[in-house]
Amino acid sequence: MKTRVGFGFDVHRLVEGRELWLGGIRIDHSLGLLGHSDADVLIHALCDALLGAANMRDIGYHFPDTAGEYAGIDSKILLKKTVELIHGKGYSIGNADITVCAERPKLNPHIPAMQQTLAACMGVDPDDISIKATTTERLGFTGREEGISAYAVVLLEK
Ligand SMILES: [Zn+2]
Repeated sequence: MKTRVGFGFDVHRLVEGRELWLGGIRIDHSLGLLGHSDADVLIHALCDALLGAANMRDIGYHFPDTAGEYAGIDSKILLKKTVELIHGKGYSIGNADITVCAERPKLNPHIPAMQQTLAACMGVDPDDISIKATTTERLGFTGREEGISAYAVVLLEK
């Protein structure tokens, strides 16, 4: 069996007047992430990790933010399409490990629901999707609550 690792990183700005979508679920918060899609930064980092492991460029290459068809799109649809792309190249998903950096809101209570949602979307066991949330100790743009960032690594198998 051949295994391949992939890494993804993404950032979105926090603004007023937007819903906060993270890990495929909507979370109650006074601010939301700004973007062409629903701006689910966690899913975007995960998609980039999947595409990177398969050496298939990145999310912006496949789903350009200039395309009207992706305006306001649910990122779970992009994740499903990404999984189809990597399946098309003969890969299956081993596991994913994701870290989200956000000062607020507290994400830990939402992690089981995110794992369930992403696993269903990707056709894997929830135990294959690890999600960790951290603050950056009030440092930097995430610490100042100007944005949220996410990092993901995945293992693909063939
Ligand atoms: Zn993004």
